[in-house]
Amino acid sequence: KKKIAIMTSGGDSPGMNGVVRACVRMAIHMGCDAFCVYEGYEGLVQGGSLIRKMEWHDVRGWLSEGGTLIGTARCMAFYERPGRLTAAKNMILNGIDALIICGGDGSLTGADKFRAEWPSLLEELVTKGELRPEQVQPYKHLNIVGLVGSIDNDLSGTDATIGCYSALARICYAVDLIEATASSHSRAFVIEVMGRHCGWLALMAGVATGADFIFIPEKPSEDNWREQMCSIVRQHRELGKRKTIVIIAEGALDKQGGKITPTMVKDLLADKEGLGLDTRITTLGHVQRGGTAVAYDRMLATLQGVEAVRAVLEATPETKTCFIAITENKIVRKPLMEAVIDTQKVAKAIQRQDFDEAMALRDAEFSE
Ligand code: ADP
Repeated sequence: KKKIAIMTSGGDSPGMNGVVRACVRMAIHMGCDAFCVYEGYEGLVQGGSLIRKMEWHDVRGWLSEGGTLIGTARCMAFYERPGRLTAAKNMILNGIDALIICGGDGSLTGADKFRAEWPSLLEELVTKGELRPEQVQPYKHLNIVGLVGSIDNDLSGTDATIGCYSALARICYAVDLIEATASSHSRAFVIEVMGRHCGWLALMAGVATGADFIFIPEKPSEDNWREQMCSIVRQHRELGKRKTIVIIAEGALDKQGGKITPTMVKDLLADKEGLGLDTRITTLGHVQRGGTAVAYDRMLATLQGVEAVRAVLEATPETKTCFIAITENKIVRKPLMEAVIDTQKVAKAIQRQDFDEAMALRDAEFSE
C-alpha cells in the first residue's frame, strides 16, 4: 500500500483544513494509507507522534474550520541538511515516500530542495549506519506535490492561492464596518492590510470597497503622492462624501523605496493646514487570517487536494516536482520551481526598486 503524507507549512491560511480533508480522503479512496505530518517541517524533523495515520472520519467537518488543525510552524532545522537528513529518516521509518505540502513559496522551495537531495540523503543515512541498505531500498524516489496556501495571493503561475479570497472577504467586511462609523463622524480611516511584497489584497480590497486611495508595493507612489492623495480626498469630500478610506498594504513603498506608513498618511490627512480630517488608523492584522474559508477557497482546497493526490500517484522519477494551480478556471499541474523563481523575481525587483520590472512581472502573471 502506498503511503502518502500531507502537511501544512509556513503562514496559515483559511482553506488549509479543506486541503488536508481532500487529500486524506482521496488517498484512502485510491487505496493508499494517508498520514498527516503535524507542525509543518518540524513534524518531519521530530517524527514520533507528529506523524500520524489518518482515517476517513479523522477529517470530518474540517471544511468549515479556519486555520490549520494539523498545525504549522517555521522550522529552522529544515533549512540545514542535518535537519533534512533526520526528516528523511523519519519518513522512511514510517514507510512514507510521497509528500503533499500546502504552504507558501518558502515551504515549496524547501520541498523542492528536499526532493532534489533525497538520493544523497538516503546514501548518507546508510553510510552513517542509521538505516540498513535494505531499509532504504524501496524508497529510492520521493514524490512531492505542492499546493499553494497563502492569504497574500503572491505566487506566480496561479490565479488564486488557497485562502486569499477568504482574507479579501474578511477585509471587505471589516472596511464595511468601519465605513459606518466613519460616515457617522465624517472621519477618515487609514486601514493597513497584509500581503508582504504583494499588493493583491490591498488593491482588490480597494476596488471591492470603493476606497479613496490605495498604496501597494508594486506600484510605488509618485514623489508628489501627498498632493495627489489630498487632492483626490478633497474632491471626494466636495462631492459630498462623509467618509474617507485609504487602504495601505503592509509593504507599501514610495519611489525611493522608502516605506509608506499608516502614521505618515494619517498625519497628512489630519494636518490642520490641509484637510484637517479627524483621522484614525486601523491595522486589521490577524483578523484577516482567521475564521472559516469562503466558498471559493473550500472549492479550491477540495479540487486541488484531489488533483494533488492524483499527481503524486502518477509521478515518475522523471517528472519534475509540480504544484497545483488554477488558471483560467482550470485546475492544472505546473512545474514548482519555475513558479517559485518567478515569485522571488518580483520580490527582488521591488527590493532593488526596479518597479517597472515588478509591474511587468505581475502583468505577465495575469495575462499568462
Ligand atoms: P511560507 O511557506 O509561508 O513562504 P516560510 O518562508 O517561513 O513560509 O517557510 C516555511 C518553512 O519552510 C520554513 O520555516 C522552513 O522550515 C522551510 N523552508 C523555507 N525556505 C526553505 C529553504 N530555502 N530551504 C529549506 N527549507 C525551507
